Amino acid sequence: MTHLARLLFLLLLAAGSLAAAEKPLRVVALHSVLAEIAREVGGDRASVIALVPAGVDPHTFDPSAADIRTVADADLVLAAGLHLETYLDRLAANAGTRSRLVPVGEALPLVLSLPTSAAHTHAAHERQNLSAAGEPDPHWWHSIDNVLFASDLVRLELARLRPNQAEAFARNAQAYQQRLFALKAWAAREVARIPSARRHLVTSHDAFGYLARDWGFTVHPLAGLSTESEPDAKHLAHLIDFIRRERIPAVFAEGSVNPKLAQNLSRETGARLGSPLYADGFGPIGSNGSNYEAMMRHNIGAIVGALAPRK
Ligand SMILES: [Zn+2]
Repeated sequence: MTHLARLLFLLLLAAGSLAAAEKPLRVVALHSVLAEIAREVGGDRASVIALVPAGVDPHTFDPSAADIRTVADADLVLAAGLHLETYLDRLAANAGTRSRLVPVGEALPLVLSLPTSAAHTHAAHERQNLSAAGEPDPHWWHSIDNVLFASDLVRLELARLRPNQAEAFARNAQAYQQRLFALKAWAAREVARIPSARRHLVTSHDAFGYLARDWGFTVHPLAGLSTESEPDAKHLAHLIDFIRRERIPAVFAEGSVNPKLAQNLSRETGARLGSPLYADGFGPIGSNGSNYEAMMRHNIGAIVGALAPRK
């Protein structure tokens, strides 16, 4: 090879690897909160597909053949984990082993679980840490701390795939985390307006355990951990008694769940119907819960608005 040909060859090689390095990572997120985290941390170095669109119930989502192909083509697949995606094993088996699948919830430091008996009967329950046997609560994004932790986990995963871009991912993650810290400070100020004796949250399904843990609420769900579970008559009667006895001022429906039961409960007890909460992920685009900050501001605002004493 002549000197010139050798130089050209090296130049082409460098250009080739540069192009490969600049191609954005393909990330598929199975939950709206994870899609936001991946977009924020990945910036223009990640092309993120939200496979389960905002406003769609992740408990009942069923991936199509096209969805499985999308997952097979991804560099990284982010799942909420903790049994939220009941189809996850099937998806992983059908999509093959090329893409890395990370069930983010399973790496969080403090996962809540319900004693199996309570998860099935919806009886009043004390949550416990996952180390005790029970059914894990997959709704981890209602704790801002969990989202902070998840954003760091996503940063590590992206940096693992593109070590040369680790610094950019770290910068992006830090900017996002600063916004989450500000959100947490706002939430603390808001929740402080509700005296602790009034921190009872009556909701459609059992989705707010993490919010309750962070802010000292007790959750009284109509149904269980999945939107597919239904309350039995005995549980409903207990709940009605409880709301009347404790003079609970409000009950909450959820954006993605039929509000009929919560409406009946409100009518039966005289508790007012609070603004519907976003339980299982973001609301559709254009709604007031279409990103994480908006969703949390809506939920906490609705809870404080309904439960804080009137001045
Ligand atoms: Zn749910």
